[in-house]
Amino acid sequence: MSKDLLASSLECLKKAVPLMMHYQIAPTPENYTLWYTYASKDIPALNIELDQLLQNHKICPPIQSEILYKTFISSPKDITTLNLRQNLEKMLIELDQSLADTHSDTTEFQKVCNKIFDNLNSANENNWPIESVMPLLKKLENDASKMHHSTSFFIENLASAKNEIETLKIKLKESQKEALYDSLTGLLNRHAFDIALSNYMRDSSQGLILILGDIDHFKTFNDKWGHLLGDQILNVVGKKFNAMMEYGATAYRFGGEEFAVLLLSRNFKLSRRLAETIRQSMEKLVLKDKKTGSRIDKITLSFGISELREGELLSHFIERADKNLYKAKRLGRNRVLPLESE
Ligand code: GH3
Ligand code: MG
Ligand code: MG
Repeated sequence: MSKDLLASSLECLKKAVPLMMHYQIAPTPENYTLWYTYASKDIPALNIELDQLLQNHKICPPIQSEILYKTFISSPKDITTLNLRQNLEKMLIELDQSLADTHSDTTEFQKVCNKIFDNLNSANENNWPIESVMPLLKKLENDASKMHHSTSFFIENLASAKNEIETLKIKLKESQKEALYDSLTGLLNRHAFDIALSNYMRDSSQGLILILGDIDHFKTFNDKWGHLLGDQILNVVGKKFNAMMEYGATAYRFGGEEFAVLLLSRNFKLSRRLAETIRQSMEKLVLKDKKTGSRIDKITLSFGISELREGELLSHFIERADKNLYKAKRLGRNRVLPLESE
């Protein structure tokens, strides 16, 4: 790894890691690569997409990261546009390699020293006048000192770079403790939902609508197919929620088999339409039990909507969506309530 390459790689890394921390991105090799590439600006189309996502949602949910990674980085047509330095994991290995290279530089330095001694010996044996040896000696000494200087400088640099990366990695891991994502579905979690609500209260100019969705008779799914398959259903439903987000809406795993969608809008009809589209697409979901080959379908959800009222407590706002959800359950499930704005 050349010094220039190392310097620019470190530069990108210094930008990428704090961004990952800021947006609570999980420290996976794929994410490192994604954000490292973003920081390097090597794939402008990726920067445009990611910038847009961050501008619209202020976050980059795991599912979006996955899509971006697949679209811009891992797809075969783009793979040639990427080189090794776009991957942090690789870079750490390269850093180790660079340290090893520096050691071989030191060996080189030793060789130069040996050459000096050889020359001095032959000067001695051939009785060269001391004046003729002096310039050669001076030059060699100069070279040796330069090499020594650059080697120790390089070692110092690498060591501090390694320390810096290790510290950043530890910080990144720590920040994951307060992670905002749900690991089962990849959606933002309840904690993220609470943060989004309190952020909204700080700047509540746009109007806010909450859609709560709850899987119907999910207990029966668990009982019939087992908890693991139940988890798989939650995963698929969560991914579907995320894929259905429109109009700047954001999906959250609210708890167990409940999902929430927050929409910055005062347009009730639009929110109903969104909930209705989600409901209909969930109905069409079909999963296969790999073990038995059985088909799992008829996954339905009931939905309740509430529009935030002027001066309303957030707890009350959530409660109203919940009431509508349970009304939908009572009326036979697989429906969206209310029908009209309340
Ligand atoms: P309803 O239509 O009234 O919502 O019926 P339900 O069976 O979905 O509701 P209930 O509240 O009785 O049961 C919810 C079930 O969801 C019970 C619980 O075991 C299951 N569940 C909650 N979280 C998870 C999870 O992470 N994984 C799995 N597999 N099941 C979960
Ligand atoms: Mg429930
Ligand atoms: Mg349920």
